[in-house]
Parts: sequence; structure tokens; C-alpha cells
Amino acid sequence: MSDHIKKIIIAIDGHSSCGKSTVAKEIARKLNYIFIDSGAMYRAVTLYCLRHKLIENGSVNLPELKANLGKIKVSFRFNPDTQHNDIWLNGENVEKEIRLLTVSQNVSPIAAVAEVRRLLVALQQEMGKSKGIVMDGRDIGTVVFPDAELKIFMTAQPDVRAKRRFDELTAKGEKVSYDEIRANIIERDRYDEKRKESPLRKADDAIVLDNSYMTREEQLKWILCRIDGI
Ligand code: C5P
Repeated sequence: MSDHIKKIIIAIDGHSSCGKSTVAKEIARKLNYIFIDSGAMYRAVTLYCLRHKLIENGSVNLPELKANLGKIKVSFRFNPDTQHNDIWLNGENVEKEIRLLTVSQNVSPIAAVAEVRRLLVALQQEMGKSKGIVMDGRDIGTVVFPDAELKIFMTAQPDVRAKRRFDELTAKGEKVSYDEIRANIIERDRYDEKRKESPLRKADDAIVLDNSYMTREEQLKWILCRIDGI
């Protein structure tokens, strides 16, 4: 597997909290590819909006957001401690803060703003110029890299996803309720699928991976088999 010479683009899209980033990270490590969590970029912009009161009670102050877009600098920097790329917002490492439930609860309306998408998609396309990249998100196979050599659409049953996310946040010490998390997952998917700008949908040429009853190892094997077939 590791002797796969031709560098390709692997696009992983799908529903919220089904482990896209986890599996994408593992694939990237195996292949020595770059891994980009595009959701982290939308979360970082959302964090900026929350801090600057550009979103309140789920309502986006569109004129102010557009006027402030030029001030929002999002980038990834390698963290030698974790051996992963952390997300930075205007010179600050926000890797931890973007995972808070308040960010999850506000990210979808921000991600629905055309100007925000335009900004982040341009950055993502730049990152994929040299190929050798695994990127996960909602529109990677449909909009960011429509010519990606491998497109995967990941999903899992909502209860399974909610349980996984609940366990993950609880382990980090966040006080959250299972019901709140389950509601957020369902609401985000609904919002992401219904929005006008780049809605979440399976690309026609994407292959579906339902991991409800699969271990991480099984998922990894499943994807590596598809890469071998390219
Ligand atoms: O992947 P993650 O759950 O961190 O993404 C957070 C949110 O960012 C999604 O619910 C979606 O609203 C938005 N997103 C997006 N397009 C992407 C990645 C994420 O709209 N490519």
C-alpha cells in the first residue's frame, strides 16, 4: 500500500460526527499525505463570529460579517507534540476551542454564507494543488475537488454518531447531554443538506461507507482497498 506512487486527492464527505476526520487522518498517515479537516476552518470562522458578536441566537449579522471577512486569517500549523496540523485563527491556536458545543451549535449558519465558502474553498483548493491530500468535509467531492480520484461519502446511524460524540466530549471533561448532542447532529445535517450554497450531498461518483457497525481498523482497510484499486 505504502508504495502507491501516484499522488491522488482523496475527498471524504458525509454526515456530522461519523468519524470522517479520524479515518482521514489515519489514511493520510499511512500514505504520508497531508490531512486537512475543512470543518475546522468553518469552525474557526464561527469562533471569530461568536467572539465578535457577528452571530447571536443563531442569527448572522451578514453585512458586518462580510465587512470583517478580510480580518479573518485561518491557517494550519504543524504541532510537533501531537504530530498533527492545528488550526490557527489570527495568530492563535484554536484547535481546542473550535470543538466546543457552542461552536457546533452556530457553525451551520456561518457555513451557509456564500462569501465565507468562497474564501475557504479557495484556501482548500490551494492546499490540494500538489495532490497527496486527504480532505474531509461536506462539499469536498462536489465543489472543492470535483476531479478527486477517490470520493467517499461517510455516514452512520444518528444514535451511533451521537453516542460517539458524547463519549468524546465527556472524555475531554465537557459537560454535555446526550440529547443535546443528538439534536445538534441531526439539526446540523438538516441545515447542511438544505442550504443553497454547496449543500451536503453525495457526489454522483462517490462511494458510500456506512460505518455504524465497523471498527476503525475495518474502515481503514475498506478505504485502503479502494485506493489500491486506483
Ligand atoms: O466537520 P465538522 O463537523 O467539524 O464541520 C462543522 C460544520 O462546518 C458542518 O456542520 C458544516 O456546517 C460546515 N462544513 C461545511 N463544509 C465543509 C466542512 C464543514 O459546510 N467542507
